[in-house]
Order: sequence, then C-alpha cells, then structure tokens
Amino acid sequence: MRDFILAANWKLNKTPSEASQFFRDFNEKLEDRLSLPPTAGGESRDIRGFGEGPNGGRRRIVFFVPALLVATSEQVVKDTGLEIGGQNIWVETKGAFTGENSSDVLSAMGAAWALVGHSERRSIFGETDKHTAQKMKTALASGLSAMLCVGETLAEREAGDNLKVVFRQLEEGLSLITDVIAKDPSRVAIAYEPVWAIGTGKVATPEQASEVHQALRKRLAEFLGKSNAGSAASGTTSASGTAVAAEIALLYGGSVKPDNAKALGLKPDIDGFLVGGASLEPDSFLGLF
Ligand code: PEP
Repeated sequence: MRDFILAANWKLNKTPSEASQFFRDFNEKLEDRLSLPPTAGGESRDIRGFGEGPNGGRRRIVFFVPALLVATSEQVVKDTGLEIGGQNIWVETKGAFTGENSSDVLSAMGAAWALVGHSERRSIFGETDKHTAQKMKTALASGLSAMLCVGETLAEREAGDNLKVVFRQLEEGLSLITDVIAKDPSRVAIAYEPVWAIGTGKVATPEQASEVHQALRKRLAEFLGKSNAGSAASGTTSASGTAVAAEIALLYGGSVKPDNAKALGLKPDIDGFLVGGASLEPDSFLGLF
C-alpha cells in the first residue's frame, strides 16, 4: 500500500510571483486533466490525494521549493492537495546557526516535507551521512515527512561500487529513525538519484533504475528487519522488515522528462519521481503524472 509520489525539486529557481503563477496554472491544468471539481471555496483535497497509485497507496504531488518561497507557495496551494516541502533543513531547530533553515519553522509555515541529502547538498555544501541521519530525525521530530536522496557518482558506478554507496547512504540516513519508520513508514521516502543523471540529460534506463530499486528495497527490508523497525512492527526480524520496506516509496530521479517517465514508472519498484528541470513548467511536470 505504498504511495506513488511525483516530487518537484525547484532548486534555486522562481520568484514569489512566478511561484504563485505556476501553482495557479498547474492546479487548473490538473483539475482539467483529472476532471477534479474546482477547489476555490470547495472541499479540501488534502486527504484524498489524486487517486490510487499502482501499489494501492495514494498518488501524491510534492513541491520542494526554496525556503523563501514556502510561505507564498503554501498560501496558493491551500486546499488543492498539492504538498510543499523544504529543500534543506539544519540538524538543530534553533540556535546560533546563521543562515540555516529550521524544520520547526517549515512545519509551522504549513510545509509537509523536508528533502535530505540531495547530491548538490552533499557535493557543494559538504553534507555528510552523519548530517543526513540527524536531519531525517529532526525533520520527523518536527512533524514533517522526510525524503532521503541516495545515489552514486559516475566514477563510483564505473568502479562497480554503486550498490555499496547507495546502501551506505541508505543505512546511515535512516539509522536514527527506525522506530518512527516502524510506526508510520509513509512518513519516509527514498529517492534514488544517480549523480551522473542529475541535470545531465542522461537518464538511467528503466532496467538500470529498477535493478537499484529492487536492491534498495531488499536491503531496506534486511536493515529494518535487524533494527527495532522490523521488530516493533511484528516482533520478529526479516519478515517484518520486508513488510515495513514494502510501505516505503522509492522514487527515481535524474533527467526524468515526459518522454522517458512512462517506461520508468512501469517498473514495479519505482514509486514515483524526483524531478528538477522538468518540474519548472506546469506542462512538462504534468506530463509525468
Ligand atoms: C534533481 O534535482 O533532483 C534532479 C533529478 O534534477 P533533473 O531532473 O534536472 O535531473
């Protein structure tokens, strides 16, 4: 019963007025496309999502916007069912951390998600696995859901180390939150984003992506089975780890566009997409849904 999530990563793009215009256009096109009743003054779509996904959960649409656009975005998407997230949080929620973002504040502003461990955060801003573990914990403690990004560089793939790298990022990133995952696995999602595919136009083939997704889900089951997540769920190790892992959405990210999304989305272990470039225009993003 895991959700299918279409997630946008706007990176450092858009002004408040561009964001507002985007959401108005996107929502109107979405209503037409899904024949949804207009939301203006109508019933909230927050709980309903956008129909059922291929694995029995909800179809959801999340926008990771720059922190400075969270307030504007929240105002415009209110009652549309579209969810807003921050692209980065700090490991603490307040204190002497000049320039950082607090997950408590994101949550108070109405955001529902935090993105953690994106490759640009790791490579440009020096975010380590230890940071990602703490940030996942902090995000959940603030009441947000959290999406952990994992992915290998081209050199790591060519050295045959891709699985070793993503397994390490996965296990470290989730190491402090296995108890929360046991209670509600839907509060966590994993995005597999091979670094060589992000913003390069080189998309992983459906087979390459699916191979990693299957390996990640298996490893997730083993890891959660050994931790308290599996045992809290049903008292034993591997079987319960498998059940919990089956509830967690594994997204693919890296140059996803309307013309390659369908083949990727047909793979049973790919539960949605994390999208940069193609999420900046309503038509191209809607073309992925
Ligand atoms: C991303 O920023 O996470 C991403 C996948 O970007 P793009 O879709 O542009 O490759």
